[in-house]
Amino acid sequence: MITRILTIDENSLKLSKKIIDGGGAVAFPTETVYGLGANAFDDNAVKNIFTVKGRPNDNPLIVHVHKDYDITNLVTEIPDYAVKLAQAYLPGPLTMVYKSKGKVSSAVSCGLDTLAVRVPEHEGAQKFLKYVRLPIAAPSANISKHVSPVTAEHVYADLNGRIEVILDGGKCSGGIESTVLDCTGEVPAILRSGLITREMISEIAGDCLVYTPKNGEQVRSPGMKYKHYSPNCETMLFEFGEFEKALIAYDKYANNNIKVCLLCDARTCGLSGSRECLNLGDNGKDIASNLYYKLREGEEKFQIIIAVAPEIDDGIMAGVMNRLTKACRNQ
Ligand code: AMP
Ligand code: MG
Repeated sequence: MITRILTIDENSLKLSKKIIDGGGAVAFPTETVYGLGANAFDDNAVKNIFTVKGRPNDNPLIVHVHKDYDITNLVTEIPDYAVKLAQAYLPGPLTMVYKSKGKVSSAVSCGLDTLAVRVPEHEGAQKFLKYVRLPIAAPSANISKHVSPVTAEHVYADLNGRIEVILDGGKCSGGIESTVLDCTGEVPAILRSGLITREMISEIAGDCLVYTPKNGEQVRSPGMKYKHYSPNCETMLFEFGEFEKALIAYDKYANNNIKVCLLCDARTCGLSGSRECLNLGDNGKDIASNLYYKLREGEEKFQIIIAVAPEIDDGIMAGVMNRLTKACRNQ
């Protein structure tokens, strides 16, 4: 199969609709990362996404809908706090989990009785969703466990030959995946941290829990248990206070002619002398936006990435550290 990167226009949207209606998958941009979408009502189309990505079949997908879509078609028991959160933050990088009406393919939620719904803000995503006139089940458009894609070229690098069309909407501004919020309880609970922070949710909903699975408990968001976001090279991660140790490790590799780089915030980069450094930026928003881009750059150019945790006090850092830890620690 030949894979084409297309700018988003009438022709590419028409072709995308044809592919989606025929049970295929199309990659499309969102403000977080690129998604790999298929018709959420079509069992085989949804199952195909798992095959294309090599995704474990107990890791449920998020359904993406157009901003004018009435989600009561798909879910029930929408609490007041969720209505308020939707007014405040949607369209945007917030995925909300509700009780499912069971209308979409059961493969979307991998048998769970809940459904994760997201309304992406990206203009290209909105155009695509409007054109296809369907709820679209979509995980990130990468090979499972690899770094999520934030450009059309990243998608191509992973899925060339496996899908027909990648809709090109430029570099994703957000850079890490949406916040996943369980809205089935009295108080909302973050299942995966992201760009909409706990503070932002508490401000509107009055309170917000952060879910951490207890020992032995069945994980409420199955995606949490998998290794994720990993570059195709060796990685190490040091705490901020371990900067000196990171430099010692760097020098050891460099002296052995191993292509090594640091991955850290701007200030730490500034302290690392003439060493190779992938600069993530100097604030939470930029660091999130650059994280996957720099991890992909690192795996292209180097044999080992030595990450140093940024010392930045911003709610977004919960999501960044979650991804950085999963990407760079062998767990
Ligand atoms: P990805 O699409 O690769 O960004 O992953 C989607 C994330 O949403 C994973 O962490 C899933 O576990 C989570 N998710 C999707 N559907 C549900 C659901 N019904 N309940 C809880 N978590 C979900
Ligand atoms: Mg993913």
